[in-house]
Amino acid sequence: MRAATGGIFTARRRIVGPSTAVRGKAVARGAPLAIVTGWGLMADHSKKPTALFVSPHLDDVAFSCGATLALLARSGWHTVLATVFTRSVPDPTGFALACQTDKGLLPEVDYMALRREEDREAAEHLGAGERIWLDLPEAPHRGYESAAAMFAGVPEEDEVWSEVAENLRGLLEAHTPDVLFAPQALGEHADHLQVVRAVLELADAPAAWYRDAPYATRNPKSLPSPLLPDGLSEVAVDVTETLDAKLRASAAYGTQLGFQFDGEGGMRETLSGFAASEARRLGLPSGEAAEALMLPETGELLENDVLRKCLWLPSGRRL
Ligand SMILES: [Zn+2]
Repeated sequence: MRAATGGIFTARRRIVGPSTAVRGKAVARGAPLAIVTGWGLMADHSKKPTALFVSPHLDDVAFSCGATLALLARSGWHTVLATVFTRSVPDPTGFALACQTDKGLLPEVDYMALRREEDREAAEHLGAGERIWLDLPEAPHRGYESAAAMFAGVPEEDEVWSEVAENLRGLLEAHTPDVLFAPQALGEHADHLQVVRAVLELADAPAAWYRDAPYATRNPKSLPSPLLPDGLSEVAVDVTETLDAKLRASAAYGTQLGFQFDGEGGMRETLSGFAASEARRLGLPSGEAAEALMLPETGELLENDVLRKCLWLPSGRRL
């Protein structure tokens, strides 16, 4: 259940969008990066184009645009998979505890540690060059007390977006990515909204916005967050060659498959069917698979020759 009114921040305690006061609010600088772990942070990737994939949770990028990550990795890009909300919180209670026990996990299990291990395996299937876990707590560990609350907008007091922005700013400075992949917040999960808000704080981020799955698969006509910038247009990534890697990576998130897809078979059917329907919707040749992105109509991204090789216009014409 969630509020039926329009807009993104539709909770009882509605907050203003980033286009007004919040957007102008400065994010504190100088805080240490809350990175749990990663690899290759100091490597020299200066000769490769770089893509930073921002995943709110330990599964979103794989489900949503994992085949694009795998495609870029195979095409010689340096790919960084950074997941935002990955922190273990000891002795969870209430809704946070229910989020693991309803998946058949005992209370003493470190649910987030288990999911980080799933993510480690998924990143390998995708061929990610780096995998980074930002050490921020998921919504159930920030005071959201029910599933309904997580899909009812962002309460004013939940200011985790500023920490997300600070962490992402650090990643931008460390990696200087050619493109940053961020969620559109389809489904309006509070954590996804907070990531959108954080990316909008990074004024110069070369953002490409992916469609959040499985929310998009459940409601293919769902529209991007109104928070997204004006002047975006949709392009397709032909992922026919890397769909299998996406499905293998997605299968690694075993704790989520029953809840999200009714099992691995359901995940494979849903994500491959959605990729085919996205290809049809976006005009690709019959039998192909696609993931859709929203990109700025002007600016460097659409002029990036390396990126353009992977993109199709909705008309079925290559860029
Ligand atoms: Zn998510």
